[in-house]
Amino acid sequence: MNALTQIREFHPEIAVWRQDIHAHPEIGFMEERTSDLVAHQLAAFGIEVHRKVGRTGLVGVLRNGPRADAPGRRLGLRADMDALPIAEANTFAHRSRNAGCMHACGHDGHTAMLLGAAKYLAQTRNFDGTVHFIFQPAEEGLGGALAMLEDRLFERFPCDAIFGMHNRPKLQLGKFAVRSGAMMAGGAFFDIDVVGLGSHGARPETGIDPVMVAVQIASALQTIVSRNVRPVDTAVLSITRIHAGDAYNVIPQTARLSGTARAFSTQVMELIGTNMKRTAEGIAQAMGAKASVDFRVNFAPVINDAEQAEFAAAVCAELVGSENVVRDPPLIMASEDFSFMLEKVPGCYLNIGNGDGEGACEVHNPSYDFNDAALPLGSAFFARAVERRLAA
Ligand SMILES: [Zn+2]
Ligand SMILES: [Zn+2]
Repeated sequence: MNALTQIREFHPEIAVWRQDIHAHPEIGFMEERTSDLVAHQLAAFGIEVHRKVGRTGLVGVLRNGPRADAPGRRLGLRADMDALPIAEANTFAHRSRNAGCMHACGHDGHTAMLLGAAKYLAQTRNFDGTVHFIFQPAEEGLGGALAMLEDRLFERFPCDAIFGMHNRPKLQLGKFAVRSGAMMAGGAFFDIDVVGLGSHGARPETGIDPVMVAVQIASALQTIVSRNVRPVDTAVLSITRIHAGDAYNVIPQTARLSGTARAFSTQVMELIGTNMKRTAEGIAQAMGAKASVDFRVNFAPVINDAEQAEFAAAVCAELVGSENVVRDPPLIMASEDFSFMLEKVPGCYLNIGNGDGEGACEVHNPSYDFNDAALPLGSAFFARAVERRLAA
């Protein structure tokens, strides 16, 4: 009996875990109940559990066979566990019990799929090597991956390759999407503080108007993507906030511009940060004001290793047929902090279809729900990746 068939036999149990986690969502670094549930299940499967890796994160270790410690035979599988500060609009029985908080990104499903793989692998042990089940907290912009790396994730739990997956609404149920190389953008947030000289609105000659400086900066920053980034590279710079002043007749002393930049390579992101600083400071100086730039890269781009992507696609093809593995999906401008793990260990992040009818509601929407029908496929991907890579 193959892995997918065996996993389908306990599909209802995986769905129970998923709906339980959905009903009890927790924001990043507050996943106490969720990590208790995961730890309890892993221990019940006979898997060694290490708590508090990256605060509320945890790692399960399953060693099997004579070559369990051999280099090249240690695999990392990662799922994220956190929910979002969104009030759920759904009315089904497993809707959120925590007001103002919901699993609107499907991390409940990701966690349940990895638990399903853990249960299967612990029972069958048809591999020779070590599997690290990485349950990451706080993926939604709060730095969970970095927190795990700061707790020496890969020094304590060495991995020769890592895999993770995210559900994708509107990708048909039963399909996977796998891209080699850049897949998702890196992201930065920035704040630019302009200091001028406050004065009377009718007497601008006595002050330095930070509002005028801010709008010149806002306008000039639009030339970074259009004039400095190579046209064949993809990047976006959006100023999403300008704050200044409180009155009709007062030229304020300060102004603040904020926004986000996205790019698919670290080099392009660095170029945006450097040119932003030079442009903002230079324009402010030219106009007699001062500007200071705080440019914070909070997501690296997701870059899949070519060899690992080929391997992941082959595992998917085994499960659903190559015609159901989308090999050239469009780049995704959103970000994902699994990228920081991929910077340390070669691996692949892939997408699993959440459905184009049921399951088509976009993530981060109050009506979103993970599609339970996708659970066994996700678990089987992880399970087969282990059995094939760490073949006994
Ligand atoms: Zn999300
Ligand atoms: Zn997500």
